[in-house]
Amino acid sequence: MFTLSKTAIVTGAASGIGAAIAKRLAKDGYNVAINCSSEKSASERGAAVAEKCREYGVEAECFVADVSSFEACDKMVKEVKARFGSVDVLVNNAGITKDGLLARMSEEQFDTVIAVNLKSVFNMTRAVTPIMMKQRSGRMINISSVAGLYGNAGQVNYSASKAGIMGITMSAAKELGARNITVNAIAPGFVQTPMTDVLPDNVKESILGATALKRFAKPEEIAGAASFLASDDAAFITGQVIVVDGGLSM
Ligand code: NAP
Repeated sequence: MFTLSKTAIVTGAASGIGAAIAKRLAKDGYNVAINCSSEKSASERGAAVAEKCREYGVEAECFVADVSSFEACDKMVKEVKARFGSVDVLVNNAGITKDGLLARMSEEQFDTVIAVNLKSVFNMTRAVTPIMMKQRSGRMINISSVAGLYGNAGQVNYSASKAGIMGITMSAAKELGARNITVNAIAPGFVQTPMTDVLPDNVKESILGATALKRFAKPEEIAGAASFLASDDAAFITGQVIVVDGGLSM
C-alpha cells in the first residue's frame, strides 16, 4: 500500500551519505529505491536502511546494480519504474576513492574511479531521462565534491570525476529545463562516513583546521541539502552546485 505516489532512487544508499539521503527522502514521504552495489551489501546494510525508511510509512526496497554498468543501470531503472510506477527524484550518490599521487597513479586507479563516480552519473541520468521527460517533471541531484571545484593532492582521478559531474549537471539542466526537470549538484566538504574514516589522523586534522565551523559534516547535513533540492521550494533552482562544506573552501 503506497502512501505517496512519488519515488526517489538513491545510488550507493547502503552506506554513509546515500543512506542518510534515502532515510531523509523517506521521511519527506518518498518511496525509496535503495541501490546497492552487490547482494552482499544489500543484505548486510541496504536491508536495514530500507527497514528504517519503511518506518516513515513509505515503500522502500533494495535494487542491486553496479552503477558503472550502463546495462545494469538501465535494467534497475526499469525495475524501479515497474515496482513504484514513477521516478520523480534521482540522487546520483555512489562513489569511491582510489587515492594516490599522480606520479604513481595507475591507469586502473584512474579508470575505475571515473567509471564508478562519473560514468555512473551518465548511465543513471540517461536511463531516467525518458521517464522524467514523459512525466514532464523530475529532480536530479548529483553528489560531487569540493575536490571537483578546487582539486586535491592525491586525488587527480577523484577530482576529475567530481568536476565531470558538474559538467553533466549544467548540460543536463540546460537540456531538460523545458520539461520541468531540474538538475543540481551538491559539493560536500569533509563528511564523517566510511569513505573518510580511513584517512590518516594528520589529514583529518589539517582539514579540520581549514574548516571554518571546526568540525566535519554529519551525513544528515548533506541529506538536508538533497531534501531541499528535491522539494517544491527549490523548483526554480537548476544547473547549480551547492557547496556544503562548513566553510572549508572559501
Ligand atoms: P561510503 O560510505 O563509502 O559510500 C559509498 C557508497 O557508494 C556505498 O554505498 C557503495 O555501495 C556505493 N558504491 C560504490 N561503488 C559502487 C558501484 N559500483 N555501484 C553501486 N554503488 C556503489 O562514502 P560516502 O562518504 O557516503 O560517499 C557518498 C558520496 O559522497 C560519494 O560520491 C563521495 O564521493 C561523495 N563525497 C563524500 C565526501 C565525504 O567526506 N565523505 C565528501 C565529498 C563527496 P555498497 O555499499 O553497496 O558497495
